[in-house]
Amino acid sequence: MNQTKILLDESEIPTHWYNVVADMPNPPEAVLGPDGNPVTPDALAAIFPESLIMQEVSTERWIEIPEAVREIYQLWRPSPLYRAHRLEAALGTPAKIYYKYEGVSPAGSHKPNTAVAQAYYNKQAGIKKLSTETGAGQWGSSLSLVGKMFGIEVLVYMVKVSYHQKPFRRSMMHTWGANVIASPSDTTQAGRSILEKDPDSPGSLGIAISEAVEVAASSPDTNYALGSVLNHVLLHQTVIGLEAKKQFEKVGDYPDVILAPCGGGSNFGGVAFPFLADKAAGKEVRLVAVEPTSCPTLTRGHYAYDFGDSIGMTPLLKMYTLGHDFVPPGIHAGGLRYHGDSALVSQLYHEGLIEAVAVPQVGTFEAGVQFAQSEGIIPAPESNHAIKAAIDEALKCKASGESKTIFFNLSGHGHFDMASYDKYFSGELEDYDYPQEAIDAALHNLPKV
Ligand SMILES: *Cc1c(COP(=O)(O)O)cnc(C)c1O
Repeated sequence: MNQTKILLDESEIPTHWYNVVADMPNPPEAVLGPDGNPVTPDALAAIFPESLIMQEVSTERWIEIPEAVREIYQLWRPSPLYRAHRLEAALGTPAKIYYKYEGVSPAGSHKPNTAVAQAYYNKQAGIKKLSTETGAGQWGSSLSLVGKMFGIEVLVYMVKVSYHQKPFRRSMMHTWGANVIASPSDTTQAGRSILEKDPDSPGSLGIAISEAVEVAASSPDTNYALGSVLNHVLLHQTVIGLEAKKQFEKVGDYPDVILAPCGGGSNFGGVAFPFLADKAAGKEVRLVAVEPTSCPTLTRGHYAYDFGDSIGMTPLLKMYTLGHDFVPPGIHAGGLRYHGDSALVSQLYHEGLIEAVAVPQVGTFEAGVQFAQSEGIIPAPESNHAIKAAIDEALKCKASGESKTIFFNLSGHGHFDMASYDKYFSGELEDYDYPQEAIDAALHNLPKV
């Protein structure tokens, strides 16, 4: 029988996360402090527990997943790998298309994979409260979900435009017991300084990060949690790729190309890095990060040291960036609107080990609708980026007659994003290329190091 869902037993949930740093040709670029010198791990101790800081700088290939974390993973992991037979037929492609579905988590995306781990380590460190930011709401939901499980209070700064666009994401966070504030807000100095300049600011992830970090830095029992970008976040997400490798083994197949939507890089790193280990060992596999043309961080940004937030409170990361003062256009894939990118993803891209492609908004919804009409699942707008790029690959195969194995990460479902689908159907969505002037201008505001 031609298998559609390739499933693993709960006993096959990975026991260790995979750390790509062990297989990178060059060590990661240093994280710099405001003085331009490398940040020492204890400089981060005001907002992160030591265990996560150690993971952030670890060079060990395998890091054990605590039993308590694996137990919570059992609520939705292992996630299914699907063979997209019906999409293949609809496209008439000789390519084989597979997707890993992370929408089976209670929050509906891959983000709980790291939220569980972060809450666990903070609880171990005696932390009572976690502050964070959220764009589209997926990360805020994910941290809210695990807060109660570990008895940790959760405070979420939600980007104002999304706060109003996505009331039900807010309701979800409330249901799980979190406190949600629209950002920029008057509850922090960072928020007040933005509102002074622009009372109607729609907010951005960078601004919300500034607010959440400020709260954590000024209170000893409060820490900060980040849903993407940092090395330890990508580390936790490798459960996706590790499971996928076992699933491909079960059906005796192996991907030629792996695609994932890329915002801060966590689901891309999560699905792709375990395969990079094979690539380092000589195997042919293409790893492609897919981003929007409206926020083309990897494909058109500068590879430079920049702040992680908008007002310059965080250490400097060497990454592809559109400038920390980037205020993104109100496109609908909220999770892909960050100005920067994971330092690990950025470095691997810079060194030519991974690829990146940018796709325009309307085409991503077209792809998402075609996917929903053949496979059933309604994807998150972020995930539609990977679907669009996967369909493009499949159509290339159709033209060339090649039967490649295409694998993409379906990072989440779109059940809370139906307003964006409605806009697509009513023709209100537009393609938007981030202007070159803005990219050039960003160069002048990068911190001098
Ligand atoms: C947050 C999110 C993304 C983008 O974030 P990454 O850190 O790049 O993975 C993609 N898809 C979904 C469903 C998300 O929630």
